[in-house]
Amino acid sequence: MDQRKIYYFDNNATTRVAPEVVTAMVPFLSDFWGNPSSAYQFGKAVAKHVEDAREKVAALINADPREIIFTSCGTESNNSAIHSALAAHPGKRHILTTTVEHSANIKFCEFLQKRGYEVTFLPVEFDGSLDIHLLEKSIRPDTAIVSVMWANNETGVIFPLEEIAAICRSKGVTIHTDAVQTPGKLKLDVAELGVDMLSLSAHKLHAPKGIGMLYVKRRTKYLPYVIGGSQERGRRGGTENVPYIVGFGRAAELAMASLEDENTRVRGLRDRLEKTILTTIPNTVRNGSQDSRLPNTSNIAFDFIEAEAILMLLDQAGICASSGSACTTGSLDPSHVLTAMGLSASRARGSIRFSLGMYTTSEEVDYLLKHLPGIIAKLRAVSPEKATGAAANRVEAVSRT
Ligand SMILES: *Cc1c(COP(=O)(O)O)cnc(C)c1O
Repeated sequence: MDQRKIYYFDNNATTRVAPEVVTAMVPFLSDFWGNPSSAYQFGKAVAKHVEDAREKVAALINADPREIIFTSCGTESNNSAIHSALAAHPGKRHILTTTVEHSANIKFCEFLQKRGYEVTFLPVEFDGSLDIHLLEKSIRPDTAIVSVMWANNETGVIFPLEEIAAICRSKGVTIHTDAVQTPGKLKLDVAELGVDMLSLSAHKLHAPKGIGMLYVKRRTKYLPYVIGGSQERGRRGGTENVPYIVGFGRAAELAMASLEDENTRVRGLRDRLEKTILTTIPNTVRNGSQDSRLPNTSNIAFDFIEAEAILMLLDQAGICASSGSACTTGSLDPSHVLTAMGLSASRARGSIRFSLGMYTTSEEVDYLLKHLPGIIAKLRAVSPEKATGAAANRVEAVSRT
């Protein structure tokens, strides 16, 4: 593979595996390959490392290790949470979620709709925020689960999860959250949040792809999604992915240690990047709330041009960024998140997400800022939308005030 220097601004899509994580994993790919369920010492020794990792992941979210179920990914965790709530309450056939969830939720809910379940997708405001009163009013006697993400992967917008969980508790409804984007960025504490279930994916916190976890609060009735052996206390069949679980454990420690850096240095880099773009490149707008937002994410609309064209030219300069989510790349539809926020299709199609991380340096931000204005100017010079677009955009701006 091409080994030239890359300038990586796509940490919400995936993150570089930390060298510390690789080091922790290697023994379990070479010498310690026993099955953790085996009764002999060679297996039991491995099982101990799985349980150590479970403790580390539990510590990241202030849970009890017995409340952690290792899964194959964030998608499986989200699917499992919803599946379990429906299976545990056979009489309840309604799911309450939002229009801006990851496709891991949206597509699964659409699948369930086709199977006769009812789903309410709550709308969001122009800044990406949720109307909590509407959420409260939308909970029904037959609601089996409320599943609301904590932080949005495209815009970084944070929902007030503590408040949402309190509402759900008062109504006796299970609350699940997709917290995949939060480790290392927000302080995670399931006791403070008051949620029943919470999903994480290790590749978003500098561990490999293909390992995730679902937190299930003690005494929550849980029915498995992957049915088989008695692994994970009977809650998820399949022989444990030991090296990846061990890596996840090490990554959880690193995420806790990087929280401070992410909220000071990385936030500063993000703010400088965003402010410079908005003040020096004309016809640019930030998508999403300024304040209630992850410290690493910036989503910006570049009017009159297509994000795909910008991304191609950025790629030629070795810069990785994305439009919307990596999981929907290639589709011609504008981002469902930006569309739900009320952006016009053309503005949504011209929007780019920059997501920084613990390895992002000030020099990399400088490099991006050096290349971006020229790329935008070059594309706008040949944009057919420009002349008419300018007028349309003014109308849009006026109608929103
Ligand atoms: C990446 C992501 C997922 C999916 O996680 P996978 O491990 O890739 O399945 C789910 N939700 C959010 C918010 C994400 O950013």
